[in-house]
Amino acid sequence: MVVRGDSAVGEQGSDGGRETAKATKKASVEKKPTARASRAASEEKSAPAKKAAAGKAAAPAGGAAAKKAPDKKAPEKPDKKPPGKAPGNKAPAKKATARKTAVKKTIARKTTAKTTAKATAKATAKATAAASAPAVDRAAALVKKAPPAKKPLVAPKKATAAVKAAAVKTVVNPAQDESRTALVRRARRINRELAEVFPYAHPELDFDNPFQLVVATVLSAQTTDLRVNQTTPALFAKYPTPEDLAAANPEEVEEILRPCGFFRAKTRSVMGLSRVLVQEFGGEVPGRLEDLVKLPGVGRKTAFVVLGNAFGRPGITVDTHFQRLVRRWRWTGETDPDKIEAAVGALFPKSDWTDLSHHVIWHGRRICHARKPACGACPIAPLCPAYGEGETDPEKARKLLKYEKGGLPGQRLKPPQAYLDAGGRPAAPLGAG
Ligand code: SF4
Repeated sequence: MVVRGDSAVGEQGSDGGRETAKATKKASVEKKPTARASRAASEEKSAPAKKAAAGKAAAPAGGAAAKKAPDKKAPEKPDKKPPGKAPGNKAPAKKATARKTAVKKTIARKTTAKTTAKATAKATAKATAAASAPAVDRAAALVKKAPPAKKPLVAPKKATAAVKAAAVKTVVNPAQDESRTALVRRARRINRELAEVFPYAHPELDFDNPFQLVVATVLSAQTTDLRVNQTTPALFAKYPTPEDLAAANPEEVEEILRPCGFFRAKTRSVMGLSRVLVQEFGGEVPGRLEDLVKLPGVGRKTAFVVLGNAFGRPGITVDTHFQRLVRRWRWTGETDPDKIEAAVGALFPKSDWTDLSHHVIWHGRRICHARKPACGACPIAPLCPAYGEGETDPEKARKLLKYEKGGLPGQRLKPPQAYLDAGGRPAAPLGAG
């Protein structure tokens, strides 16, 4: 294109003045748009200048508005004008409004956060308060959870109802500062509950007369009543009276008593007490404590068993079960049997003493064992401060139960009718497996 232009210029020069004039016209025609363009260009150049000038003129006003708007205009119509239609010079005001709105939102968020924090704090406080509830409440909850009270499957229906009622009332927490009145009430309530559970409680030694009872009680040391009951039939069949036993051949007696353990010492005791009965009491068992304790091998415990069950005279039998349970129940802190007897005797009327002894001993033999108490199956768990000392799982605890509570017969071969009426079964005789 540049080469052709150059040649055209050369052609004009050769055609003369007409061609030059035409070319000049064309050139002038072509220059007109250029002029317009230059005017337009100048206008365009000046337009931004004007706009800039206008902008400069408006800018101070806008800046002033931006500074003052938040105070005057923004609060009046903060949200009515849509953002896209807002005039350019009102943008700062809008920004201020937006900032204010943002501030408001922030304040609102903070307020909400504070409210939430307060609510959370309250909830936490409640939860903490619940967690740090008094020991009594926690103990009550524990007792309520304690399945033993709900499922004393080992107890008769009557006892079950009593146990459920006890669980609802919930005594628990017999603290060390338990008042004397509260202790007496709790102790008597335990006795009542046990009477419901063991309505057929009785001495578990078979006997037909006071002589058989005192001999059987002496033999029961360090062995079970069941073992004694399996042994005495042969002894009393061969030596039915104190005179017969006093005159017996010791070796023969020892052989009969061998299953009871400590058979030599026990032979000496039963033959010795038979001799004293014959010599000092006319062959009759005395009905007084001070006389009974004179017999060889007879202490206060044996004496009270005889007095309470053969003579109907109230007595507390403080055997190993009794000692263990009353300490677990915090009835007394004494360890000496005589002092325990006095302390527990003071909690109950004298007329309750014999049955109380049966209830406590039966409970100790069947449920509240020395090594593994079956707390999970214990009907008096709500009243016991030692709950949890043994197995608390109901299923595992049930497996720890003994005798008729564990599904096995009781210990008497010749049980009283009350025991049979309550569904008890006599123990198997010796050698029956
Ligand atoms: S220690 Fe356990 S089994 Fe014994 S009385 Fe208390 S709760 Fe019952």
